[in-house]
Amino acid sequence: VSLEKYSIGVDLGGTNLRIAAYAGGTEFLESIAVPTRMAEGRDAVVDDMASAIRRFRETYSASASLAGVGIGTPGPLELPIGRLRKLPNFPGWDGFNLREAIESRIGMSVFLAKDANLAAFAESKLGQGKALGIDSMYMLTLGTGVGNGIVLDGKIFDGMSGMAGEGGHATVWPNGPRCGCGNHGCVEVFASATGVQRMARELIAGGNAPGLTTLADSKPAFSARDVADLASSGDSGARRVFENVGEALGITLAAMIDILNLPLYVIGGGMTNAWDLFSPRLFAELESRSYVYFLNNGNIDTSGYRSRMTHVVPAQLGSEAGLLGACLLPLVEAPA
Ligand SMILES: [Zn+2]
Repeated sequence: VSLEKYSIGVDLGGTNLRIAAYAGGTEFLESIAVPTRMAEGRDAVVDDMASAIRRFRETYSASASLAGVGIGTPGPLELPIGRLRKLPNFPGWDGFNLREAIESRIGMSVFLAKDANLAAFAESKLGQGKALGIDSMYMLTLGTGVGNGIVLDGKIFDGMSGMAGEGGHATVWPNGPRCGCGNHGCVEVFASATGVQRMARELIAGGNAPGLTTLADSKPAFSARDVADLASSGDSGARRVFENVGEALGITLAAMIDILNLPLYVIGGGMTNAWDLFSPRLFAELESRSYVYFLNNGNIDTSGYRSRMTHVVPAQLGSEAGLLGACLLPLVEAPA
């Protein structure tokens, strides 16, 4: 295959490091995943990133020109300097200049962005944004935590210091459970996989959720997916957990819709599989809480695209969205 241009993308996760070569579309030329060697420290992890980038560069640079390298990392990330700040699950990385560390190893500059911003960027260019012909959107990514990304007029919105997109820490319940960020009642403590597990355990402890109790007895380390499967089978306790997810998401999105008045809001990440379980409550919250949603969407058929309507939809791209965004960013942003 002869290619004109290609890019290399890296997605730095707490569990896996994923690296891909890419030349457009929604497929990679090649992708690999290796465990993130967190215990060996940040230098070992960056060494792994650099050696994979070099290997892809050697493989593909004979047949195409490298547009650039894109790197996605969990936030908070300080930009443009490229310094990581107090990442949960990354002990010893606070204050680490990831940009400098990687650029000095591979001998070229890189495009650096927060993973949730890159997922939103990919969804905007290749997923729902493309499908609906919309280039401004807000996306919540529901995984172990809750991230968000903002794309305005086709560009990632980073904010003053790169930290736009910590909407997972918006408060939905002032006296709610403590979050890893230090606040109480963040949307993340309800609408994440860990939030689902926590709420299920609370219902079990309350003694009023026989289905969840049976699940925990047979599988003590049950996952959010297990709770979703139980909810899909009709269990009332498990369904209540996802009502809470929808409520928290609805409260957050109602505020974002009223503030931003964007045409598109996307819910992505692993929990998107549970869309049918949480979205009815989410839409009920939007209808009762968001003035702008009501003004734009009241009384009209919500199927299909309409201009001047607020779209709230599940992501089209799956768990690879962040890596796709990391690959896409250099191809879109690099000077020709
Ligand atoms: Zn928080």
